[in-house]
Amino acid sequence: MTIVVDVQNKTYPSRTPGQDHIALTEVAFEIPESQFTCIVGPSGCGKSTLLNIVSGLEKGFEGTVSINGESPEKAHIGYMFQTPRLMPWLSVLDNVRLVMDNSEEEEELARHLLEEMHLGDVLQAFPNRLSGGMQRRVALARAFVVQPGLLLMDEPFISLDEPAAIRLRQVLLNLWNERPTTVLFVTHDLSEAIYLADRILFLSPGPGRIVLDYKVPLTRPREDLEKKDIEALKSELLDKHPDLLTGLAEN
Ligand code: ADP
Ligand code: MG
Repeated sequence: MTIVVDVQNKTYPSRTPGQDHIALTEVAFEIPESQFTCIVGPSGCGKSTLLNIVSGLEKGFEGTVSINGESPEKAHIGYMFQTPRLMPWLSVLDNVRLVMDNSEEEEELARHLLEEMHLGDVLQAFPNRLSGGMQRRVALARAFVVQPGLLLMDEPFISLDEPAAIRLRQVLLNLWNERPTTVLFVTHDLSEAIYLADRILFLSPGPGRIVLDYKVPLTRPREDLEKKDIEALKSELLDKHPDLLTGLAEN
């Protein structure tokens, strides 16, 4: 799906009249079909707000969002939040079924995705029996099973240990290669963004504005990409734009 975003202004009301909090200002960009775009910016700069606006969940803003020329409500969107948000009383398989229309095709895809993510042995297990990494794999399967035209991901691999995060990024890229979809992936981890994205939009500290629209000069597939390649690119980028990491955690 092609996305056109033009957010002039997004404010949140404050208790003091006339002093509303500005969360985003003049954020405009277009994302072509099947592009993997990362949004990078410091905590509090409005990243989650932006995803909520693109998803259609947040409607109170000045500006427009169109997805394939229509409003977000009409689009087929998968949304993976910062926490897995699994229902504790439902099994792994039932958590994924929750978002499905119960067609045979989706049932088959659900089982296939879960097997692909090495969850085939725990289909009937409850979430509290799973590790954090496994819970996120379930959430990832749930986001993909609806075959979204647009996938929104809000720091989905945050607070995982690095080996688990590396495996999950690879799982995500494999899924995306097999089932190309437009992705908007929010992170404050620049290395993660370089590894995953075709393109990175950098936001300033709040109120967020786009300070750089960067095309990642790496070919795919990136399975064997080494940490030093990412670090080299990162240094090059920061040499050219030293203020990019203002407020970022890994400064
Ligand atoms: P990020 O995801 O980049 O950390 P958010 O989009 O969550 O940033 O928040 C952007 C700014 O808006 C922050 O200053 C935050 O405190 C504020 N904010 C977010 N949600 C609300 C809300 N529901 N009401 C008031 N202020 C909010
Ligand atoms: Mg956030």
